[in-house]
Amino acid sequence: MKTIHFQIATPEKVVFDAPKAESITLPTKMGEITVLPDHLPVVASLVPGEVRVKIGGQEVSMAVSGGFIQIMPGKVVVLADSAERAEDIDEARAEQARHRAQELLTKKRTEAVDYTGLAVKLEKELARLKVVRKRRGSKHIGPIIEK
Ligand code: ATP
Repeated sequence: MKTIHFQIATPEKVVFDAPKAESITLPTKMGEITVLPDHLPVVASLVPGEVRVKIGGQEVSMAVSGGFIQIMPGKVVVLADSAERAEDIDEARAEQARHRAQELLTKKRTEAVDYTGLAVKLEKELARLKVVRKRRGSKHIGPIIEK
């Protein structure tokens, strides 16, 4: 069976490296895309959301923020501002950060507020919460490949 080499990295580290992925689903500016072997080469923008990778019939879920996606023959590389595997997400931290961002966005203020930055932060925290809560709600089968 044909597979795809999938890598996802942040400025800090390689978060995930799967030499034999079956499919990769990514949140992009144009909507969600699923990459299968033999996908045409494309460069796309990554937006905050969930990345799902199928390997050996199982699925690995990650939360990502913004970045870039490069789809090449047999290989997909994602460069993200931040990326966490579902099991590494600290839900309380994400919830606190979401609350802070939402509060700052809705509060009446006299000084200048970076609304765009806050909106991006909010999207990022919502993506983390979606991924970690989905994982908690589903039957977990454990990590299937090493980082
Ligand atoms: P916070 O507002 O919670 O302090 P931050 O603004 O510092 O977060 P980011 O800049 O998005 O967060 O990320 C900094 C680092 O911390 C990255 O490596 C990111 O993967 C990690 N990180 C951020 N939030 C979480 C979380 N809820 N669970 C696990 N790792 C996280």
